[in-house]
Amino acid sequence: MLDSAMVVVFPGPATATGEDVAELHLHGGTAVVSDVLEALTRQADVRLAEAGEFTRRAFSNNRLDLAQVEGLADLIAAETSSQREQALALAGGALSSFADLWRMRIIAVLAQAEAGLDFAEGEADVAERIAEASSSVLRTLADELDALLIDGKRAARIRDGLSIVVIGVPNVGKSSLVNALSMRDAAIVTPIPGTTRDPVEVSLNLGGIAATLIDTAGLRETADPVEQEGIRRARARAANADLILHLIDPNDPTVTRAKNVWIIGNKIDLSPHFASDVDYRISARTGDGIAAVGTALLAWAQETVRPGEPALLAHARHQAAFSDAVISVRSAAEATDDVLRAEDLRRAAHALGRIAGRVDIDDVLDMIFSQFCIGK
Ligand code: GDP
Repeated sequence: MLDSAMVVVFPGPATATGEDVAELHLHGGTAVVSDVLEALTRQADVRLAEAGEFTRRAFSNNRLDLAQVEGLADLIAAETSSQREQALALAGGALSSFADLWRMRIIAVLAQAEAGLDFAEGEADVAERIAEASSSVLRTLADELDALLIDGKRAARIRDGLSIVVIGVPNVGKSSLVNALSMRDAAIVTPIPGTTRDPVEVSLNLGGIAATLIDTAGLRETADPVEQEGIRRARARAANADLILHLIDPNDPTVTRAKNVWIIGNKIDLSPHFASDVDYRISARTGDGIAAVGTALLAWAQETVRPGEPALLAHARHQAAFSDAVISVRSAAEATDDVLRAEDLRRAAHALGRIAGRVDIDDVLDMIFSQFCIGK
């Protein structure tokens, strides 16, 4: 006697993995679970599942395609509501069905190109008319794909979070501002411990949008290799920042304005006068003006990622596939030779097939499934 429990049997193929599945609903104590697992694994042909194995079986049995698997991994990792929404759309097959639709459109043009190949010499004018019509369809297709790729930046920002970097001369109050912003209102700081990747970073939740606030005060010269690595990463993130908060104090000389930079005058408790025009006036010490900066950050985040609108291409793998497809479609549109055009179109269809994992997948499978933990 190990426990008195409920057993639920799900006959395949309409199960999560597509196979017959049984669930043991045990009383959750550590000893109950480990003793039952031990009794089970003592049986011949019974072993524990590997990380991601259930999802992998679902994929092998066509219950999920590859983009859906990636969506599921994103869903498990999602920390904010906009990340969850985006992951849910991917897991639900939004991108796969989109890529399929595109593939069908390309294959339709391919069929025409192949038909053109069959016309005899004397019917060259027919073949030419078909080629002209295809070129204009293909140019439109390529433009639409390009628009999606451009929007991919927004999708990636939702998934990976926005980065906000605080810069300024030493002692201007960068660390104080980061502290003030992260303590001002618990709602904008991610409450989950351990989500901050680095000591100089603070995770923010800007109205459901993930963001990282990076304090460059932590970027100092150091001999410690671990800290050096942290600094290298912080610098790389700073170089790609979505927004820079440039902090100045009343003693600073004029600073130049730039795109995506907010100039924030600090230490207004000492003096309200600055050499430059400032966007915000604060005192990181007294907390004056901090609320206004927080509110502005919320509005900026909403405007930057527009979380209500679906964004499809958040993964580098998906962007690469779409970008390969658009190159081949453009080349097909300009092709003067039907054989070359057909080849370009086959390549474009193939690239889109990679999204759902229909082709060329061996090299990415292990990488994708290894992100899952055991039991998923
Ligand atoms: P960092 O080197 O830019 O990160 O600057 P810190 O945040 O470490 O601040 C440097 C010094 O300036 C500290 O002594 C802070 O207490 C002080 N400081 C920061 N903000 C203010 C402020 O708004 N008013 C005043 N009076 N002092 C401040």
